[in-house]
Amino acid sequence: MTHHEAHRASNWDEILSPDTAHTYETPMRKDAFALSDDQKVSLIAEKFTEIMEILGLDLTDDSLSGTPERVAKMYVHEAFSGLNPANFPDVKLFDNKYGYRQMLLEKNITVHSHCEHHFVPIIGKCHVAYIPNNKVVGLSKLNRIVRHFSKRPQVQERLTEQIAQALMEALQTKDVAVFIEADHMCVLTRGVEDHGSSTTTQSLHGAFAQGDERREFMDAIKSC
Ligand SMILES: [Zn+2]
Repeated sequence: MTHHEAHRASNWDEILSPDTAHTYETPMRKDAFALSDDQKVSLIAEKFTEIMEILGLDLTDDSLSGTPERVAKMYVHEAFSGLNPANFPDVKLFDNKYGYRQMLLEKNITVHSHCEHHFVPIIGKCHVAYIPNNKVVGLSKLNRIVRHFSKRPQVQERLTEQIAQALMEALQTKDVAVFIEADHMCVLTRGVEDHGSSTTTQSLHGAFAQGDERREFMDAIKSC
């Protein structure tokens, strides 16, 4: 084995090691919520004013003067509101009185997120399925859970996992499937500027991990 090959082999050991730490949590500071939302808005507005000034923009222009505060509010109250666990939707479960034990699929849930590497939009759709246990959930809650995790700086892989994990917890079942197809503005509009490409990710658990249910889910979303 050449030195080069040996080096590559040891890299593979590292990559394939089951000990490699992994987490689907968004990396957050311990003091993430020491500031109130209002404090965050005013601090971000200050910093964004600086960014615009450094770019050479004249903030006395009436079209630009409100931008820093507009961006700050958008970050805190909309685009990144899902960072705060306090904003996680209230998920109410109902008894599965009708004994429904088949796949329930919620298709084409809108995904509006932001890429954490460039802070530009990720726009796509999410398909979510589960097989109810003794409890069922109000359908709009599935959309709300997808929305919650979308409202963070994200990578699509982590977003997919976070939605799946939250659904398994909320619905009290492992039989959960999540599939996302999305366009990343950082790929479409900058860098390689590839307008034709999109990205799909999936997180399949329990009965959906293999066999008939997996096929059933994949077939059902094929036409979307
Ligand atoms: Zn990006």
